[in-house]
Amino acid sequence: MKKRILIPGPVELSPAVRSALATPMMGHRTPDFNAILEECWNGLRYVYQTKNDVAIITGSGTAAMDAAVSSVVSAGDEVICIGGGKFGERFPKIVRAFGGKAVNVPVEWGRAVSPADVESAVSKSDAVAITMTHNETSTGVLHDAEEIGRIARKNNMLFIMDAVTSIGGDDVRTDGWGVDICITGSQKCLAAPPGLGFAAVSERAWNVIENNSGKRGFYLDLASYRKSLKKSTTPFTPALSLIYGLRVALAELRAEGLENRIRRHRMLAAATREAALAMNLELFADPTHASNTVTAIKIPVGLTDSDVRGRLKDEYGILLAGGQESVKGKIFRIGHMANVDNVELLGVLSALEMVLARAGHDFTLGAGVSAAQSRLSSL
Ligand SMILES: *Cc1c(COP(=O)(O)O)cnc(C)c1O
Repeated sequence: MKKRILIPGPVELSPAVRSALATPMMGHRTPDFNAILEECWNGLRYVYQTKNDVAIITGSGTAAMDAAVSSVVSAGDEVICIGGGKFGERFPKIVRAFGGKAVNVPVEWGRAVSPADVESAVSKSDAVAITMTHNETSTGVLHDAEEIGRIARKNNMLFIMDAVTSIGGDDVRTDGWGVDICITGSQKCLAAPPGLGFAAVSERAWNVIENNSGKRGFYLDLASYRKSLKKSTTPFTPALSLIYGLRVALAELRAEGLENRIRRHRMLAAATREAALAMNLELFADPTHASNTVTAIKIPVGLTDSDVRGRLKDEYGILLAGGQESVKGKIFRIGHMANVDNVELLGVLSALEMVLARAGHDFTLGAGVSAAQSRLSSL
């Protein structure tokens, strides 16, 4: 049975990216490798919509979150951390690990943050930064980034944003929205293998980082990445194979074109949501702030996670993601990002209908696929 993964990372790689991983090693301090890195930086600036420098870090997305926080924060500094899911709630843990004080702005899982709540937290704090997860992968919510960027700038705080499941799949205007440190990882919408984290850093943030005498990191101190960037290299031995793969993934992204890619993700997401509703399922995320890269769907009353995800995996070879923490066993998530295409999505929705029908869920078999077909064949 052919195996398919439609989880929010890691994602299936294209054949060209897979073969690039087998490229022979080269010296990492050579003009040939510097040229590969330059290509990656150009591609990253394109997808990030930024003129800023982008640090390429060996480590998963969380390593880039760690780098952002540890480079900016010194002991005792306050940081306003917007919650709302597993990843938003990861920032305060990192802030505390480096001796900072996290000021939480709680957000109910499945809802988007209210800018007024952020304003109110800001007015009571002299925090150095605001952290937010743009596309909350654990809930399928897309938060408003532009408004939070405006609040950060107005209050002279840095805006640190986790864009791990939006960059490469949705519109992320790093410069346009004033994101000071914008983070992503290789294995989500960029369609590269896991193991690389990225941080685009604004001039405002570089100023803070280079004058921060109280920071505690070493390997992940962004200041050393900037020094190396100026010489077209990285501070430590990079994961060459992953960078060979990244270069090809970014070239494929550019060939598709960012606008087309965003439109494709939005179509897949709309088709998934409309199909779910037609299958008599409920969406978990606030429909006004639904993610375009991952959709969270409630497991219907009377059914279990193994009735849905378990059967999809055992009978059709399809892996979807489950719920995390407080929503474990209550939702499942479809990652429709990176190289997922219309035919693959239609196949997965069709298999989902078949397992739901077998589990006794009340709906009309075929209604979901039909709704998705209507969406995907519209202009
Ligand atoms: C995947 C992900 C991360 C990073 O997780 P890693 O496992 O460290 O790569 C961070 N934020 C979001 C929103 C994610 O989806």
